[in-house]
Amino acid sequence: MELLKRRILQDGRCYPGGILKVDSFINHQMDPMLLYKVAEEFIYRFRDADINKIVTIEASGIAPAIMVGYIMHLPVVFIKKKQPKTMENMLSTVVHSFTKDRDYTVCISNNFLTPDDRILFIDDFLAYGNAAMGVLDLVKQSGARLEGMGFIIEKAFQKGRDVLNDADVRVESLAIIDSLDDCTITIR
Ligand code: 5GP
Repeated sequence: MELLKRRILQDGRCYPGGILKVDSFINHQMDPMLLYKVAEEFIYRFRDADINKIVTIEASGIAPAIMVGYIMHLPVVFIKKKQPKTMENMLSTVVHSFTKDRDYTVCISNNFLTPDDRILFIDDFLAYGNAAMGVLDLVKQSGARLEGMGFIIEKAFQKGRDVLNDADVRVESLAIIDSLDDCTITIR
């Protein structure tokens, strides 16, 4: 997606350890016009998929996911990173965070992820695929079907796509970063 790639080159910032900061347009301050275009591109890429619900994980996936749900007129559910005492029929799994270097438990209510659901998962980044594999575990526990996963930015050098390919997950990424070596952003 050319518009997105140009924006990453213009406003993205490299951090040591292979981290790309996009907090001026995706992760902290958000550009709704860009995110709307991002959503349209996801919808175009998954136009042949039979989707009835959008799923994401808090926090940075929520904005693009709700744009997709809004355009498609579909409900959006976000996986939570804190377990509320009041959640009914909780499904949970453990995810390792690469940016925070720790494990955490994520959860979703089985009331909102059911065997009738055909899911498109949307998130900001695909890195090692840990979050995505956690999502896949929750989808499997729920009995829902995963139609595919869409990421705004994939860091190809961290190999999350291989992990998801091995798990037979369809992946679409709108910008693929080949390298952040020497604090230079190299986009495919
Ligand atoms: P993974 O689980 O694939 O290793 O990492 C995906 C999650 O970690 C994403 O949901 C994202 O929030 C965070 N993440 C991974 N790499 C980056 C990065 O380079 N920059 C930012 N801002 N977040 C990242």
